[in-house]
Amino acid sequence: MGTILLDAYIENELFFLFKVKKVFFVWFAYFWNPNQKNMKLYSVNSGYFKLDGGAMFGVVPKSIWNKTNPADENNMCSWAMRCLLVEINNRLILIDNGMGDKQNEKFFSFYYLHGTDTLEKSLAKHGFCFDDITDVFLTHLHFDHCGGSVKYTDSSRSALTPTFKNARYWSNKQHWEWATHPNPREKASFLKENIMPIYESGQLHFIEKEGEWLPGFETLFVNGHTESMMLPLLHYKNKKVLFCADLLPSVGHLPIPYVMGYDVRPLETLKEKERVLQQAAKEEWLLFFEHDGVNESVTVQNTEKGIRANHFLKIAEF
Ligand SMILES: [Zn+2]
Repeated sequence: MGTILLDAYIENELFFLFKVKKVFFVWFAYFWNPNQKNMKLYSVNSGYFKLDGGAMFGVVPKSIWNKTNPADENNMCSWAMRCLLVEINNRLILIDNGMGDKQNEKFFSFYYLHGTDTLEKSLAKHGFCFDDITDVFLTHLHFDHCGGSVKYTDSSRSALTPTFKNARYWSNKQHWEWATHPNPREKASFLKENIMPIYESGQLHFIEKEGEWLPGFETLFVNGHTESMMLPLLHYKNKKVLFCADLLPSVGHLPIPYVMGYDVRPLETLKEKERVLQQAAKEEWLLFFEHDGVNESVTVQNTEKGIRANHFLKIAEF
């Protein structure tokens, strides 16, 4: 009897010690992981523009998408160009940078820029300026994602230069090839003046492959919207934040068949959305939307209808 009691006592003690060790390990991992501790995220809106609602929702009829994204008299809906600034281990990484201001009046007349937000003002709100940026991460080179990369050197508008003079610019080889030898379908979105000055300045670098790019900063490569678009997946406060770029431009695009008419491989997008959304629901990722004019980010959950938004949040509250 005595031996049994002693055994039970030892077993209990061991279990207790194991639990204490486990709690300590989790605590240690959280507080000593430099990425978790040091990463700061700032939402940076570079402005709002308009795009045709039909083009943004592909095969979905207007009677449906108009409820979540009401169109104006020209069938245009308002969209944000929301970037994300990642501060991590003395680096300040800007993910995408909006449309910029280089093109002529005729070009901008197609896109109805509105609101008062600009990239410069939104960075300043967080206490940063262009010269503070150490890295510019370009999800892809469509003009509404990378146009802010390059600016005119002065008011004569005769020469172009990278906007972020202290930054390394990041794309990947496959996408760079695709964008610099564009197909007729995407040609109007890949503008030479947004792209070539980055290369000519010597500031262009390539991310080699999917997976961990920096500690706490993973990338997913997706091919439905365009070739090798890169989505940052950030390890932040013991959760993950996905910068959705054009895989999921807005909360209205959560249903799987709601795919943009612009996508070059829509069936690929369906599969990529399914995979990403299932994982996001399972692991409670925060999905950060670049183009949603109203909702900055959401968590998602499985419902009878498929994966839908759960909590609506802002990065600053997360
Ligand atoms: Zn795009």
